[in-house]
Amino acid sequence: MLSSLFARRPDAQDPALFWTPPGTTVVQRYRNTLGPLEGAVVVYTSASDRSSSYAAACLGCTYRAARNDRRVRLSETEAADLANAHAAHCRAINRGLPAIPNDDDAAQIVRNRLRSLRPYGPSPHQVHLTDFLEDRVDLQRDDDFVKQAMFEIARTEGDFLKAAPAYSGSTGTRFLVQPPPPRN
Ligand SMILES: [Zn+2]
Repeated sequence: MLSSLFARRPDAQDPALFWTPPGTTVVQRYRNTLGPLEGAVVVYTSASDRSSSYAAACLGCTYRAARNDRRVRLSETEAADLANAHAAHCRAINRGLPAIPNDDDAAQIVRNRLRSLRPYGPSPHQVHLTDFLEDRVDLQRDDDFVKQAMFEIARTEGDFLKAAPAYSGSTGTRFLVQPPPPRN
C-alpha cells in the first residue's frame, strides 16, 4: 500500500533528524547504513567558545570522539572523517534521542570530566567549555548549567576546583582544576 509506504518516510520535522546537543553547533550530520532515522552521527563544535575544536558523536550508540590518536583536539575535517567512518559501519538501531540525564547525573558528568583534567604537574588546569565537548551529547545541558555545576563543586571541594575572577578586560569566572595534593 502506497499510503503506508509514504507514512514510513522520515518526517522532515522529526526533531531526531535535526537534533543539536545543547551548547553545541552541529556542522555536519551522517546517517548510518540502516537508514535516515536509524541512528545519526553528528559533527559539532562548542557554540560558545569560539574554538576550532570539533567532536563526532553517534546518537545511536556510545561512540564519542573529541581527540585523535595523538590526544590532540580534532579539526572539522578529522571529526568528519571519523564520523563518516563510524556511520559506514555502525549498525545501531534508532532509539530516538539520547536520554536526558537528571541534574545529579549531569553534574556527575561535569565532575568526571574535571577529574580527568586534573594536572600531573604543579600548575592548575584552567577549564574551558571546550573541555566538555566530548560530553555534550550525554550531558544535554547548556553552558550555564555547566558553570553552575562548577561553582557548586568549587564551593564544596575547594581543594579540587577553584573559582577565580577572570583576567582584567573580561567578565566572568575562571575555573582552575587543582593538582592533587602532594603525597607524604
Ligand atoms: Zn554508532
